[in-house]
Amino acid sequence: MTVDIDHFLAVVDKAVKDADVPVVDLIAVQTRDPFKVLVATILSSRTKDEVTAKASKRLFNKATTPSALAQLSEETIAGLIYPVGFYKTKARHLKKLPNCLEQFSAVVPDTIDELVQLPGVGRKTANLVVSVAFGKPAICVDTHVHRIMNIWKYVATKTPLQTEMTLRKILPERHWIKVNSLLVAFGQSICRPVGPKCDICPLCRICPQQGVVPRKIGGKKKNRGELRFISWNVNGIRAVEKKGFADIIAELNADIIGIQETKAQPDQLSETITNIDGYTSFWHSAERKGYSGVGFYTRLTPLNVEYGLGDVEFDCEGRVITLEFEKFFITNIYFPNAGSELQRLDYKLRFDRSLLEFAKKKELIKPIILCGDFNVAHKEIDLKNPKNNEKNAGFTPEERQWMNTFVEAGFIDTFRMFDQRPEQYTWWSYRFSARKRNIGWRIDYFCVSENGRKGIRDALIKQDVMGSDHCPVELVYYP
Ligand code: SF4
Repeated sequence: MTVDIDHFLAVVDKAVKDADVPVVDLIAVQTRDPFKVLVATILSSRTKDEVTAKASKRLFNKATTPSALAQLSEETIAGLIYPVGFYKTKARHLKKLPNCLEQFSAVVPDTIDELVQLPGVGRKTANLVVSVAFGKPAICVDTHVHRIMNIWKYVATKTPLQTEMTLRKILPERHWIKVNSLLVAFGQSICRPVGPKCDICPLCRICPQQGVVPRKIGGKKKNRGELRFISWNVNGIRAVEKKGFADIIAELNADIIGIQETKAQPDQLSETITNIDGYTSFWHSAERKGYSGVGFYTRLTPLNVEYGLGDVEFDCEGRVITLEFEKFFITNIYFPNAGSELQRLDYKLRFDRSLLEFAKKKELIKPIILCGDFNVAHKEIDLKNPKNNEKNAGFTPEERQWMNTFVEAGFIDTFRMFDQRPEQYTWWSYRFSARKRNIGWRIDYFCVSENGRKGIRDALIKQDVMGSDHCPVELVYYP
């Protein structure tokens, strides 16, 4: 199976968002000066980024042009760039560089064939300079690129040069310039040469892991500090009680469980439901009996519990409940349904806007996790029959547009961080054997504010759990 390289690189792009930018890219962004990029690239070979950055700075304080570099002695250059790897050899090459550049009118050339004629410049350096300094299509193949492309089985090569030549044939040109910086950052932070962190890698479920020995993590260490959250629309908690609800909750074995559509008021809940071993429960019900309602089970003791959005128009329907912990909020939401004739679409859109404002305010304090039945499939991939449902509740342009706004505001659809496959649904109609035929919708989500991104470890759909027309969804989170 060939990997979907667009998807793999998009996932890596997100995963390394907070990683340090490779020093050569950083210098290019800061200076846009091919000479500095060339010199920094020569220095960076077999040297840690932080060492390269400091050595480049010292050297550029004395010389930022070929003519200024020509004024420095080899010993001075060596002293300035120490302790980069092979600093004496690099000093010798840098001393010769101004002279060699004369054949190109004292400017850094922008082709690989010309660059490799310069002292200390191999194909890797040349490719890097062409792509980073000049923004021209070139594939720099660092050892990380060579290694990771083989792990993904995108290539099957023995040397970086073979990898470069193969990538030139098969890698779409739109990825050429960026692939090196992406995979260097990814290779330094997650897919490390020794003990890659497959356990937290967003590609772990789809990566071929060719020849990989993931880092070893003892059971305790792996789970230390990680929390498991479940969200489940039970479509009537009293109905599901008869199907073994307490056993299902025990089986799910999560730290916090958000329940939607309880369709019950607290005095209608049995002891079996409210007192599940090991959990404290909190409930927010609608004024109208047998309608809507949300609840939480938690093993952790919250600092605070907040009921609703603070707006009577919505709070009388018991749709929102929030637990506050030291490092995060978790809000459990049952979004309104727009109705079969879209008669409640306006109400739903008002609710959506109010919820987004609520979440944005909380995010200013600390990360917020939002879970629940959003009653909207965001994209065509999120339901079986998108074309037939464009005018139906849950897939109208207005509802989907709000979901766009929500995501653009920085709330991450955690499931899609890890899984881009179609036909991953969380709700199926009770009619037409829809669940058996997997004619469904993905309308249940775990979303996390941008400031909680680093804590997201995994997101899953638990399609094998029965008892409702929805199945539970799960988030693994490290606060
Ligand atoms: S799953 Fe492991 S081997 Fe594959 S890309 Fe992620 S860290 Fe690398």
